[in-house]
This record gives sequence, C-alpha cells and structure tokens, in this order.
Amino acid sequence: MNQLIEVDAVVVGAGPVGIVTALLLAKKGIRCVLLEKNHPLKSSSNKHENGSVKDYKQGFDGRTLALNIESERLLSSIDCLPEIELCEEIQKIRVTQQGHFGSCLLESEQEYLQYFGLTVNSTELGEKMQQSLLAEYKKDTYLQYFESVKINDIRQDSTIQDEYPVSLSIGYKEGKESVIHTKILIAADGTNSQVRQHFDFPTTSVDYQQIATLTKVTHQKKHLNIAHERFLKNGVLALLPTAIKTNHQHLGMQSGFVSSVVWLQNNVESMDTKALSEEELLRVLQKRFGEQYGKFIELTPVTNYAMREIVATQTHHQNIILIGNAAHSLHPVAGQGLNLGLKDVQQLLHHIGLTGCTQESLRNFSIIQKKNVSQIQCFVNKLLEGFSSFHPMSVLSRSLLMIAFEKCAVVRRPLLYQLSGVQEPAMYLEQIPTALQNKLERIKRQVDKLLF
Ligand SMILES: Cc1cc2nc3c(=O)[nH]c(=O)nc-3n(C[C@H](O)[C@H](O)[C@H](O)COP(=O)(O)OP(=O)(O)OC[C@H]3O[C@@H](n4cnc5c(N)ncnc54)[C@H](O)[C@@H]3O)c2cc1C
Repeated sequence: MNQLIEVDAVVVGAGPVGIVTALLLAKKGIRCVLLEKNHPLKSSSNKHENGSVKDYKQGFDGRTLALNIESERLLSSIDCLPEIELCEEIQKIRVTQQGHFGSCLLESEQEYLQYFGLTVNSTELGEKMQQSLLAEYKKDTYLQYFESVKINDIRQDSTIQDEYPVSLSIGYKEGKESVIHTKILIAADGTNSQVRQHFDFPTTSVDYQQIATLTKVTHQKKHLNIAHERFLKNGVLALLPTAIKTNHQHLGMQSGFVSSVVWLQNNVESMDTKALSEEELLRVLQKRFGEQYGKFIELTPVTNYAMREIVATQTHHQNIILIGNAAHSLHPVAGQGLNLGLKDVQQLLHHIGLTGCTQESLRNFSIIQKKNVSQIQCFVNKLLEGFSSFHPMSVLSRSLLMIAFEKCAVVRRPLLYQLSGVQEPAMYLEQIPTALQNKLERIKRQVDKLLF
C-alpha cells in the first residue's frame, strides 16, 4: 500500500531557492516536505559535456554568483553561506564601453556601504546548503527531504473545502510510491518547472540570441575587489572578483588575482569559444578587456549557456505558487536572478507568517512578487537595450549618461541600494545630517567668497 504523508507545505526543487524555503518553513514550525528529482550536487558537479551549450539547468553547477547584501544576510541567518574565505567582496563597480570615452566608477564607500555584495561559487554554496539541510532533516523536526524522486501526478481539488487541497503522487528510485497531501504547493523547480507546465501557468519568453561563456581567469595584477561590466560591439564582458580555495593555490591561482569571466556574445557574430585553445581564448579576452589587470595568465575550462528569459505572467493558482526561476528566469547581465528568488522566499514566508499556509497568503505574496519581478526585468532589459547600439549618437548620449550617473548621488543611490538589497541603510541614514551639514558649509563658504 502507498505511504500517505500529510503536511502544511510541499516544496518542489532543492535548488538554492527550494532549500532556503524548506529550511525557513521548518524553522518556523511549519511541517514541510522538500522534493528533488536529482541529487542536486552529484547531478550538477559540473559534467562539462564537451561542446554542449547549457540551458539554464540548475544553479549549483559551479557558476559564480553575485549575492547582494539582503541575500547574504538571509543565507547567514540559516547557516547557508560558505565560509568568508570562499566569498569575495564587490567594493567597486566599473562600467565601460570598448573603444569609447565615458565610463562610470561606483564605490561602495561613497554610498556608505562596506561593499555592494559578495561573489560565491555556486557549487560551494550548494555544499553548504546541503549540509544545513541534512542537519535540519536529521533533527527529525518539521522537515522531510526526498531526493531522486519523480512526481507522477499532482491534483488540486478546488471544489471541496478540504484541509489538504493539493495531492501529489511520488515515485522513488527503488520503485516505491507515496501520496502526499498538503495545504500549499511551492514550486521552486527551476526554469523548466514541471509544476508550471502541469498547471498551464501562462508565460512570456524571450530568446536573446546570445551565448554566455563562463570561465575564471588568473591575472598579473590584483583585482582590488572591482567588478567590471564592459559593453562591447558584440555583447558584454563582465569580470567579477573571485575567492579561491586554498587547495587551488598550488595550481597557480592566488587570492586577489582571479576573476570570474562572463562573456556574452550575440549569436550572429559569436565566436565558438569551445573550439579555441586556452592561449587563443586568453588573447581574445585580453583584447576585449584591455591591460587594466596586466597580462591574463590562465583560464579554467569554459561553460556555455544559451540566454533566454522566461517569466510566468501568473504565479499563483489557488493553493499553488511559483517562486525562483520557476516564476522568473531572467537574463544574468545584472546578476539578479538568485537575489530575486531569495527575495521571493523572504516575502512568501512573511505572508505565511501573517495568514498561514492559505490561498490568501499566496495571493497576497504574488501581488508583491509581480511588482519586484517587473522592476528587475525592466532594469535588465533597459540595460541590454541601452548598450546594444554603437551608433555615434547613442554612444555619445550613453557616455554622458554614465558620467552623470557617477556624479549624481540622488539618481544613483536609490538604484544601487535596490540592486544591493539595502532597504534602510542605518549607516547611511546616520550620515545624512553630517553630509548635509558639510555640504551647506561648503555652499556658504562659496557664497561668502563670491560676495566678499
Ligand atoms: C550564467 C549565469 C550567471 C548567473 N549569475 C547570477 C548572479 O551573479 N547572481 C544572481 O543572483 N543570479 C545569477 N544567476 C541566476 C541564478 O543562477 C538562478 O536564478 C538560480 O540558480 C535559481 O535558483 P532556483 O532554485 O530557483 O532554480 P534552480 O537552481 O534551477 O533549481 C531548481 C531545482 O529543482 C529541481 N527540479 C527540477 N524539476 C524538478 C521536478 N520535477 N521535481 C523535483 N525537483 C525538480 C532541479 O533538479 C533543481 O535542483 C545566473 C544564471 C546564469 C545562467
């Protein structure tokens, strides 16, 4: 006979978003089951299939992730952030365009922040999350975790006022089956979400006709915790300061001298990076980035991804909700996908805290979620659009805009705070009176000078 499980919530998908959701639910005393179709780390331990282009699979595949301050705080609070030596701070962001004047340097110190965010290796993040997940699971509290499972069927009974309106039938590797009855179903099963497809949630999608190439580069000069975003005629080249495990140092990689490369190329003129030798690719990247870091010395194996956006225009249906990449897979140019997914988790948990595992919580959350997603989606697409044309007039206006953006705190700061996940920076608020007073003093001195 099938085993029957009754819980408050089922979370589908043990990627970063699903794990954090399940841990937070369990810590709040909400009985939940977390279901994963693979073994997340084994399946993703980055089998570099030669020549293949990855399609946003799942997040623990070794890509470098930029986490904002809000995500860092959330992950630390549930012991899901790798040790500090494995994280690198982003203290400055430099935006440039190849072959043209006009650039922009943003410094965290100027915004009264220690840093804008941290970079972490997603496999190391996954390992840490798995440890915390298994520790919680072993405590035998409110969390049950099943991996290598297949969801055979999902049903939602909208007619009967049942305590457990959603039911799932699950198949295990050994051939056994269970039925799970739940109050709510939270789908965190990634870009190709089975739950989203099963219930026909409407989506919009954009194929950017771009390939992203990811690798790590060792360079002669220190990165000084600067993240670079360099707009090219045929795409974007980003370099992110990257921490290095001590056991990688014998390979010639030294902390402070390694950056993660994300090179986006438009398909029409794209170079097949897998076909290039390491020396050739080093030369190509060096030419596009310039000499700011001295010579590029060494690269790690390359991974390619096809760039597309899939956004669910509706994420809530009765007792089912989509979160993370299942709800919104965005272009990674601004490094906001996971940050947005973790914001989903925080706000969903807040609403569950107010009205329990109910339709009302999910509905209220989905309204806020829609607003958050459209803001970031709009920013990402404006950024890509704004840097796509190299017509002389576009280059000129872009150059002037970048200079103005760097100089004008009133315009710059709200955006930087939003992207860094800083809502009420206490430090900043404390400094405003002094900063204003200094500014007034300076103006007064200038006026005095002019008058007398
Ligand atoms: C090149 C690149 C760079 C990026 N850089 C950044 C960055 O710097 N900063 C940032 O914030 N974001 C970044 N992102 C985005 C980030 O990686 C994703 O937003 C994040 O991984 C999404 O996490 P998730 O848990 O929602 O989905 P996933 O990581 O896709 O996890 C989904 C999980 O669900 C499981 N699953 C799938 N189907 C089922 C099923 N039927 N049953 C059970 N389990 C299932 C999968 O096996 C997987 O474990 C980047 C993305 C790319 C492609």
